[in-house]
Amino acid sequence: MTRKLFWEDMYMKEFEAVVVSFSNSELILDSTAFYPRSGGLVSDTGFISGVRVQEVYYKGEDIVHRIEGEGDFVNGSAVRGTIDWERRYRIMRMHTATHILSSVVNKESGALITGNKVGPDVSHVDFSLENFEREKLFHFVEETNKIISLNLEVKTYFLKREEAIKIPGVVKLAEAMPPNVSELRIVQIGDFDIQADGGVHVRNTKEIGRVSLLKMENKGKNNRRVYFTLENITS
Ligand SMILES: [Zn+2]
Repeated sequence: MTRKLFWEDMYMKEFEAVVVSFSNSELILDSTAFYPRSGGLVSDTGFISGVRVQEVYYKGEDIVHRIEGEGDFVNGSAVRGTIDWERRYRIMRMHTATHILSSVVNKESGALITGNKVGPDVSHVDFSLENFEREKLFHFVEETNKIISLNLEVKTYFLKREEAIKIPGVVKLAEAMPPNVSELRIVQIGDFDIQADGGVHVRNTKEIGRVSLLKMENKGKNNRRVYFTLENITS
């Protein structure tokens, strides 16, 4: 089981770890700050001891770093990981923004979230809604930006599963029950939103900037997909 340094410190850009196994370009360490693709978020990229990390994903309880080329990692040896921080920070900002937008839509329309994809440049959220007028959508984005501008603190902590699932709205993704573990990781944005979530977020909504609507699409009768980005995405 890989220790998740990205849960202990979401702002960790570099770390030291020990090689647990390496074969077929798949590198497993005892701990990692690389976020593995999951929960709608793309995986981190970066370098481990000078070797490019192309993708990171879960294999059971282990986290696999798929590296570029042959690589030469010896079990038990120490390595140094470096996250592509500019990219990761954009993902964190996008992710916290995604929670706020989802919560605004959910609170105002009752729609459930049926899927999402959080990336560094463009993200989208799918809502189970029959009608989604453009004006309403602009209003939701406006509300999202209002919440962001309140400079709300974003907290993460663990709760016993029985306690966590009693919180109204703690599971917002339609049909997605939290994994069968005794403790759930909770992400709370001020008093505005609370969710069971494994992803990486910013500490305060003021880091997000502003959400900017890109387009909306119909994805089936009851499914609306909203694409958005952040203003000053490169900052
Ligand atoms: Zn999330």
